[in-house]
Order: sequence, then structure tokens, then C-alpha cells
Amino acid sequence: MYKKYIENLKSYEAGKPIELIVREYGIEPKDVIKLASNENPLGCSKRVSEAIAKSADRAYLYPDDSMFELKEALSNRFGVDSKEIIIGAGSDQILEFISHIKLDEGSKILTSNITFAMYEIYAKGFGAEVIKTDSYRHIVDEFIEKIDSENPDIVYICTPNNPTGDATRRDDIFKIIDATPKESLVVVDCAYMEYVDSRDYFVEPKDFIKYSNVVYLGTFSKAYGLGGMRVGYGIANRELIDILYKVRPPFNITTLSLLAAIEASKDSDFVVRSVELNSKEMSRYEEFAKENGIEYIPSWTNFITYLLGENRDSTKIANNLMKKGIIVRDLASYGLNAIRVTIGKEEQNSRLFKELKEEI
Ligand code: PMP
Repeated sequence: MYKKYIENLKSYEAGKPIELIVREYGIEPKDVIKLASNENPLGCSKRVSEAIAKSADRAYLYPDDSMFELKEALSNRFGVDSKEIIIGAGSDQILEFISHIKLDEGSKILTSNITFAMYEIYAKGFGAEVIKTDSYRHIVDEFIEKIDSENPDIVYICTPNNPTGDATRRDDIFKIIDATPKESLVVVDCAYMEYVDSRDYFVEPKDFIKYSNVVYLGTFSKAYGLGGMRVGYGIANRELIDILYKVRPPFNITTLSLLAAIEASKDSDFVVRSVELNSKEMSRYEEFAKENGIEYIPSWTNFITYLLGENRDSTKIANNLMKKGIIVRDLASYGLNAIRVTIGKEEQNSRLFKELKEEI
């Protein structure tokens, strides 16, 4: 009745919303702590909320479809040309565009073993096959071996990687790109790059512009605090952006989302504060893990993955925390007995530590 590969597709399991906890457990919304979707615990810049409130009556207008001002802001921030940028309803939508221009039945994508689930979902949605390396980390030799033997149409490098939090060294990224034939695309998904503070791991869009087949992905959803506005971007050489534009629907972000992203771009202090808070609180998560015998993956992001070991059950722990009003992400669906916890504000993290201690 429908395409077989769509019928067999498992849809994305999003982090549980606060509303669900309120409905199911009768907990007051103010008592629910959501540490499940890697949102910014500081919210968004005041500039953004004020601009949205002031412009609410513009909701009836379609947005400026050229997205001129936002592209100018990104162009200045990254030192690339506006024509090398495409905006999406979250970087998710850019992933869809990329899959659309490249994948068919019989195509292949290559990813690390445990990575952002949407690569696989989009690929399968276009009938493509998903090849994975053995490790959850991006190991250059494993990637090159699979590039040579499988000839994938898209190679995904997620750095820092979701849901594990580890990052790939910049020289390793270039080795993977160099090993990929020009006919295949390499997507470097940098949704969490604002949190990376090491020269050895940091990359930016202009590192990749010279390649004809590499797309850099970024988002306003994390460090910029605009998860709910759905604004992401792809940056690549102009020819590739022109092709991506062919499958973009008009007005693909909203008038208020566009405004929000423009305002957020003007407040780099907010991003600095967000990253500082994250780094301070991340140390507490590492200490908590060490003190309580929990193994963790050192993280370059705004979340940490606690590996729970044989005697603990991630689903049970995540469910028990939920009943106490704390939402974390169970990684059982990724094949890991682990929970992923978004780094919250100091008091939120303290409550998580207290409740988690009782569960482990
Ligand atoms: N890439 C990665 C690695 C992510 O973790 C996410 C969000 N979870 C996205 C892309 C999509 O983000 P958005 O659509 O909000 O820009």
C-alpha cells in the first residue's frame, strides 16, 4: 500500500515534553526539570524574547524568503558569503534537503555506530541503506575502510556527536573528507560546536568551503537557546547550496523564527554565558559520576552520557526519575544501557544528583 521502506521505518523518539509529565504524574509544571533534549537552561537571550513579543502582530506575514538579514549575520559571524548559506527549519530540515538531493533506493549512507538518529531515518525514508562503522566514536580507519568498500553516497560526521558527546579531531575530519570520492557528500554536523574549546577539535564553516562536496551544519537550537523556534543552517560552496535550494519549500521558517535568529545573532554575550555555565556545571557531573562509580563519556557538548554498567537499567532509572519530575534521555533505543542528561542550571543539576543517587 505504501512504500515498503516507509512502512518499515521507525520514527524518531523525541525527548519527553514537560506537558506529558504534568498530565501523567500530576506534577506542577514548575516542578518539572527537563534535561532531555539538550535545550539551553538559560532559555534564550532577552533580546529575542522582547523582539518576539514586540513583533507578535507580524504573525500574519510570510517571512522574508531571501532571509537576507539572517544570512548577513551568519556571513559576518563565519566569514563566508551569504550565497554559501541555506537556512532550514532546524538543521533537521537541511538534513532532509541533503538526503533529498542525494539519496534513492539503492543509495548508501555511512555513519558511526551510535549517532544522531535522523541521518538513518531520512536515509531509510528515501530507500537508502545505512552502513555503520563498528565504533561509536568516529575512527578514521573504520571510516576509510567503509568508504572504500561500500562507496557511500553520504558520509556523516557528527562532531561533537549526539548522543555520546565525544568529538572528532579536526585532522581526522579532513582525513575522512580526503578519503571520500568527490561524487559523495560529506556532512559535518556541528550542532554543538559552540561548546568546543579546543583548537584540535574546533572546526568552522570556512574550513570546508573549498571542497565541492562538504556541507557544514549548525543550529540556533542549542547554545543560542532557540530550540523552539526551529532555525538551523547549512554552509557549503555555492554550487552545492544552489542544488539544496532546489528542494527547499518557500517560507521554510516562520516570520518570528527568522526574527528570533537575527536577534540571537546580535547577542554573543548570551552564548558566552551559556557556554561558561555549561562548562562549570559539566565539572559537577563528572565529579558526581566519579564519586558514585558511574562511567561516563567525556563530553564536548551541553549533555553528558552516563554509562550505567551491568547492574543498572537505564529505562528503569529514566522512568523513575520521570515520576519524580526529572526528564532525562534513556539511550536504550540506541542500544546503550545509558542515560543522556542535558546540563541544566546549578539548582536543577543538584536536584538531579540527589534523585539519581537514590536510583543507582
Ligand atoms: N544534529 C544533531 C547532532 C543534533 O543533536 C540535533 C538536535 N538534537 C540536530 C542536528 C537537529 O537540531 P535542530 O533541528 O534543532 O537544528
